[in-house]
Amino acid sequence: MTDYRHHWKDGAQVHHPCGKIVCIGRNYADHAAELNNPIPESPLLFIKPSTAAVHMTRPVRIPRDRGEVHFETELAVLIGRPLTAASQDDSRQAILGYGLALDLTLRELQSELKKKGQPWELAKGFDGACPLSPFVPAESLPQRNLKFSLDIDGERRQTGDTSVLLNPILPLISYISHQFTLLPGDVVLTGTPKGVGPLHPDQILSLQLEDALFIETRVV
Ligand code: ZN
Repeated sequence: MTDYRHHWKDGAQVHHPCGKIVCIGRNYADHAAELNNPIPESPLLFIKPSTAAVHMTRPVRIPRDRGEVHFETELAVLIGRPLTAASQDDSRQAILGYGLALDLTLRELQSELKKKGQPWELAKGFDGACPLSPFVPAESLPQRNLKFSLDIDGERRQTGDTSVLLNPILPLISYISHQFTLLPGDVVLTGTPKGVGPLHPDQILSLQLEDALFIETRVV
């Protein structure tokens, strides 16, 4: 029996249920390239419903018979104050904490939707489509260049570094808040670096954010 280990800094909170989950597509150039996607001129936003959120520390349940379910490891930002048309400075003050998310994606369905020019929600909004870690208080992390990683069965598959985001965190949150209001409990996902791929039952996922968060979980 595997011993699943989770560590996080004192004060990290499991924050569920959350509100809406606002996501950005193609925010790392290397990931846009691996899927042969052009880099958008303005942020490409989509929303996962709150019902997509599940605890990452529990086994990650993937849908069957809906084609490949891809993992996308992303830095998640927990919003703590209402933000409407907010400045970057207001956005900074509204960040309650940072965590990790898996933006689970029905990749084959998403490709069909893209071809038809249709929204992506069917491929990204299903129940359980957003495993979320506990959130580490913002003040206990470095304010720049947060690094994170995903290992599958002991092999490094994704590494992220927010210093190379095409839309950095504060401009992104400010931009989102100019399109629609963010509320306390909403979560912003900041995009995935390259290395995405299909999940399979019984894989062990190990996710790390700086030295603040370490999560081990299993795919079922
Ligand atoms: Zn994503």
